[in-house]
Amino acid sequence: MPAGFDLTGRTAIVTGANTGLGQAIAVALAQAGAGIVAVGRSSMDETRALVAPSGRPFHEVAADLSTLEPIARIVREAEAAAKADGSRLDILVNNAGIIRRADAIDFTEADWDAVMDVNLKSTFFLTQAVARTMLADGKGGKVINIASLLSFQGGIRIPSYTASKSGLAGLTRLLACEWAGKLINVNAIAPGYFVTNNTEALRADPERNAAILSRIPAGHWGKPEELGGAAVFLASDAAAYIHGVVLPVDGGWLAR
Ligand code: NAP
Repeated sequence: MPAGFDLTGRTAIVTGANTGLGQAIAVALAQAGAGIVAVGRSSMDETRALVAPSGRPFHEVAADLSTLEPIARIVREAEAAAKADGSRLDILVNNAGIIRRADAIDFTEADWDAVMDVNLKSTFFLTQAVARTMLADGKGGKVINIASLLSFQGGIRIPSYTASKSGLAGLTRLLACEWAGKLINVNAIAPGYFVTNNTEALRADPERNAAILSRIPAGHWGKPEELGGAAVFLASDAAAYIHGVVLPVDGGWLAR
């Protein structure tokens, strides 16, 4: 691996690392050398087993990100874990996210708030808390937000999701502007259509499945492992001068 992409000795927090894209990102970061602090509300056993062959440290922080209540504890436990490994909090991947589907005309306040709370509010305040530690020792770090094609497009029947992911793209740019001069790179990845729990309903609907598939130039739904390289890149020194970018990893969807 070229030196610029090597993450050896660094520690990455990955939220929602138990499954799907977060799990694939945790595995890829570990394969590139990073220790992992996996944050989430479900068992991390599967991810722990997948990270194990890399031989990198793996820690769990149990937390439900639907409120801000666990934020201070997450950072405390993650810092302690990194310190125990002789490391620090170098990388934060804000991956945890939810989606609720209903026609805009019927959309409920509960579905609005639930999605905004996890996808945007907790993401911002966790980032703020982690960035304080990155700024405190002056060494900076990398923040990677998991955005969406709905950061660029409207979509249908997912009003709070589109609002949250469009908001996350804006937040990525704002934080990049504030922190680029302080050695923190803030960027985002916009996954296309990947095979995870998030897209189960779409793939189960034969009409929607065929429509989506026929529009992806690469000709297949994304496999979670196809996202890892972008995360490693943005977490690495190779991306030191990249700030505020929302990088599509979408099989060509947006190019169409
Ligand atoms: P997923 O399998 O549903 O994973 C979502 C992750 O977020 C899970 O680990 C989930 O934990 C976690 N999470 C949700 N609510 C949480 C909460 N309150 N507290 C802690 N963790 C919570 O879907 P995915 O596709 O991997 O999604 C990962 C990210 O990629 C999301 O931000 C999603 O919006 C984004 N994305 C996905 C696609 C796609 O095509 N799959 C496309 C664009 C963007 P549990 O398992 O415990 O629920």
